[in-house]
Amino acid sequence: MTNGNHPAVSLRTDNLTLGYRRGVAVVQRLVLDVAQGEIVTLVGPNGSGKSTILRALARLMRPQDGAVYLDGKSIHRLSTRKVAQQLAILPQRPDAPDDLTVRELVARGRFARQSWWRASGQEDRQVVEWALAATGMDALQDRFLNTLSGGERQRGWIALALAQEPRILLLDEPTTFLDISHQLEVMDLLQTLNADNGLSIVMVLHDLNQAARFSHRLVALCKGDVYAAGPPAEVMTEDMLRVVFQVQGVVGRDPHTATPTFTPLQSVRNGSSDRDGSPDRTDSSDRPGTVSSC
Ligand code: ADP
Ligand code: MG
Repeated sequence: MTNGNHPAVSLRTDNLTLGYRRGVAVVQRLVLDVAQGEIVTLVGPNGSGKSTILRALARLMRPQDGAVYLDGKSIHRLSTRKVAQQLAILPQRPDAPDDLTVRELVARGRFARQSWWRASGQEDRQVVEWALAATGMDALQDRFLNTLSGGERQRGWIALALAQEPRILLLDEPTTFLDISHQLEVMDLLQTLNADNGLSIVMVLHDLNQAARFSHRLVALCKGDVYAAGPPAEVMTEDMLRVVFQVQGVVGRDPHTATPTFTPLQSVRNGSSDRDGSPDRTDSSDRPGTVSSC
């Protein structure tokens, strides 16, 4: 990724069905394409299957049916090492021993690039330096993870993922525990890596306005089905927000970025106040696979 000269990479799913128990599908027949250099953000309420999809894209779970393809090859036919050379994931709740320093954590990102005959070398050190600098973690590199703030720790995890030199980065709610300034730092960093290095990004975000601002494409999920997918302006509609998120509100336009914004006014979940009296109905009942509420 650091040399900017890499072959086209794409991630694709074909009729991907995922679940944790036999016969119980959490995600049904998902068809998703991620082109090289694209930022795709999954949005949807809690439990709609976002993390499950990211785990399957990272080969951390085996599909009940269908497949994930990395450059046209079924990801389950590739070795863990091959996958790790292309793709890095920052899970929702990453786990590491607290007695690691930031630098030691980030150096772990090089494992998939090393081998028994060539342990850590000059190039590995350079990439670790680059990942630390890109995330603004160079000054904190000797600190232990358990001494960092939430934002610093998150940037450390992103540095670890970058040290893998992935062409595809998967991030599960990378900004959830960060204050607004650290959120923007993380989003700006991802945007820069995408623009300068062609890094493809698939992420889960809760903040819909950030999702619309920083993504080329949004995928709105409703109980494991794609309700809508496309450019933010097409997906961020008041209908989608009412059906998928059960929130009535107003879609506007960001005066600075011209991307769609959403101002929530009230919940229209069953039992909450709803003015139109039919929060569970969708105007888009002609859409295949659409369910009435999430
Ligand atoms: P999201 O990330 O959109 O909140 P998840 O993908 O975490 O949703 O969860 C989708 C569904 O799968 C939920 O119903 C959740 O309870 C279930 N689920 C998630 N992880 C597990 C697990 N490890 N074992 C069993 N069920 C799970
Ligand atoms: Mg999740």
